[in-house]
Amino acid sequence: MATLTPVGTKRPHEDMARTPPMREAKIPKALPKYGLNEWKELGANITGIIPALPENLVETLKLPCACGHKTLAEHSVFVLVPGELDNEYFTLKKLIAFAKEHFETAITCRAMKRLPDQAKKENETHWILMSRCLLPNSRESGYRYKPPKISPPFAYPTPIEAALCMALFSSSAPGFFKREPSYTTLTRCEDGRKKKTAVGGFDPKWQTVQVQTAQAEHANYGIAPVVRF
Ligand SMILES: [Zn+2]
Repeated sequence: MATLTPVGTKRPHEDMARTPPMREAKIPKALPKYGLNEWKELGANITGIIPALPENLVETLKLPCACGHKTLAEHSVFVLVPGELDNEYFTLKKLIAFAKEHFETAITCRAMKRLPDQAKKENETHWILMSRCLLPNSRESGYRYKPPKISPPFAYPTPIEAALCMALFSSSAPGFFKREPSYTTLTRCEDGRKKKTAVGGFDPKWQTVQVQTAQAEHANYGIAPVVRF
C-alpha cells in the first residue's frame, strides 16, 4: 500500500528533482519575464517545489488584456512568484527587504502591521501573468464601493504579486498603467480583508512602489488582474 503524505505536511525537497526542466524557449521574446534564471542571477535560492512553465501559457497569452485592447502577451508581465526563499516563507516583509537589497525599485509599506501576513496562503511558488493595464472603469471605484467580481481565469493580485511585478517592471519599458493619466495609479489586491490593500503609486523619479491601505474615497484605485497558474 502506498504511503500518503499527510495533508498540510511540507513536501520533501526531493520533489524538486522530479520537477520537469524549464522550457524557457517557449516564452515569446517580447513578453517581459522574470523566471527562475533571473532569480538565480540575483543569487536568490527558491526552495520547495518549483513549477514548470504553465502548459496553457501560449493559449492564455492570446486572451484579450483587461483593458479591452490587445492581448495579454502585449500588455502583461510574466513572473515566477516565490513561495519560499532559503526554506522560509516569502512574505511581504521579506519581499520588501529583498527589493531593498536587490532591485532598483524599492517597495514601501505604511502600516505593515495592519496588513495580513500572507505566508500561509502564499507559500507555493507559482507563475502569474499580471496585466499592466486596469479593468475599464475600475479606477473610479474606490474601496467604499463593492469591488467588481472578476471572472476566471482572471483574479485580483495579492499584495506580494502586485508589489513584486511593479518593482521589477515599473521603472523600465513597457512599465505599468501607461494608459492611465497619473503615476499615482494603484491596483486593489486580494488580501482577505475586502480588498482594502492597494499597490502601485510609483513614480519613476522616486523609484518606489507603495503598498498601502486604500482610502475610502480615492480616485486612483483601479484593478489590474492576474492570471495565476
Ligand atoms: Zn491592456
